[in-house]
Amino acid sequence: MRGAAGVFQLKIKNKKFMLKVNLRHLEEHGLRLQGELPVAELDLGVNDELIRAEQPLRLDLSVELLHDAVLATGSLVLPLECECARCLKKFKFNLKLTGWAAHLPLEGEDKVAVDNDCVDLTPFVREDILLNFPQHPLCKPDCAGLKQKQTARKAGAAEKTAAAAWAELDKLKLK
Ligand SMILES: [Zn+2]
Repeated sequence: MRGAAGVFQLKIKNKKFMLKVNLRHLEEHGLRLQGELPVAELDLGVNDELIRAEQPLRLDLSVELLHDAVLATGSLVLPLECECARCLKKFKFNLKLTGWAAHLPLEGEDKVAVDNDCVDLTPFVREDILLNFPQHPLCKPDCAGLKQKQTARKAGAAEKTAAAAWAELDKLKLK
C-alpha cells in the first residue's frame, strides 16, 4: 500500500527480513520501516548483571537511496530493565536514539555488503545501540546508594551494619 506521502509503508512481519532493504525497491521509492524487532535478532551479546534487554526494539525508520549510498534515518527505542549500580533498585530505562542516521556507501572502500540486492541494516543498528548502552546504570544521577550507618565503635557494629544493609536489600527486592 502506498502512503499519503508516496512512501511505501512496510509493516514488518517476517523477522528474517526485518531490517533488510532491497536496493531495487529503493530505486523506485523510499521505504518506511516501522515495527518491533525481537531483541534476539539484534544479538547484542551484552552480559551485564545490571542491565537486561528482553523487550523488542521499536523502530521507525525512513530509508532512501542516494546517488551512491543508502540513507536510513529515524528513531530506535530499546526498553531496558536496569538495576541501580549503587542502591540496587530496579528501574526501567528506554535507550532512545531519536535522531538516528546511518549513511551506508555503496561504492568505495567502506561500501556496505549487498546480498541479493539487499542491504542489512541490523549491524549498524546494533553498533549504535551498543555505543549508547548505559555503562553504569543509576536510578537517578545523584543516587546516594544504600544508607550506611556511620562508624560505630562498639564491637559487633560492623556486623550489625551489614545485617541492616541486607535488610535494606531484602526490602528493595520485595518491592
Ligand atoms: Zn540508586
